[in-house]
Amino acid sequence: MGGKNLKAIAVERGSRKIAVHNKEELNRSVKQAVKLMVSLSNGMRLYGTSGGVVKCHDLGDFPIKNWQLRSWQKVSNLSGMRLAVTVLKGRYYCGKCPVGCGRVVQVEEGRYKTPVKAGGPEYETMGSLGGNLLIDNIEAVTRANDLCNRYGLDTISVGQVISFAFEAYEKNYVNKNDIGGEFPIIPYL
Ligand code: SF4
Repeated sequence: MGGKNLKAIAVERGSRKIAVHNKEELNRSVKQAVKLMVSLSNGMRLYGTSGGVVKCHDLGDFPIKNWQLRSWQKVSNLSGMRLAVTVLKGRYYCGKCPVGCGRVVQVEEGRYKTPVKAGGPEYETMGSLGGNLLIDNIEAVTRANDLCNRYGLDTISVGQVISFAFEAYEKNYVNKNDIGGEFPIIPYL
């Protein structure tokens, strides 16, 4: 879009009604489909997308230290199950979706306190700002997620850029003069 100089796409909402051949049958089908979706999505409803953190880690699809490592014993500290018993305050739904995988979170006190209840970290954020940086503190990841949202920054990009800088520093491609200070070297556990 940027390359084509496209700034925005505007879509106007329609005002005409959609003709339905058999409204009763449509309603019956919709009810049936919603029931099925709800029964099949219990995990997403309870634990959100980060409910898949441990599973994806086990499959090798979770970033750890800028994708340099294969596994990380602290990964369960970033799971949706862990989130559910720490910072989770509620759920939100996109439109009329019956699943409601969105997390409403808040860190109520301490160093990583967040100002209000807001959207919580998704699976990708747990990966990018968590495992990718070897941070297993779910409150820290929640706060980092909150800050990214406030600044309008994509959490995946932010985590990847930081982990890239960490790795470049550890491998002496850049030094403390290049980056204006020393990076902490985080021990891998
Ligand atoms: S539509 Fe929204 S609430 Fe529903 S499953 Fe997808 S992301 Fe979750």
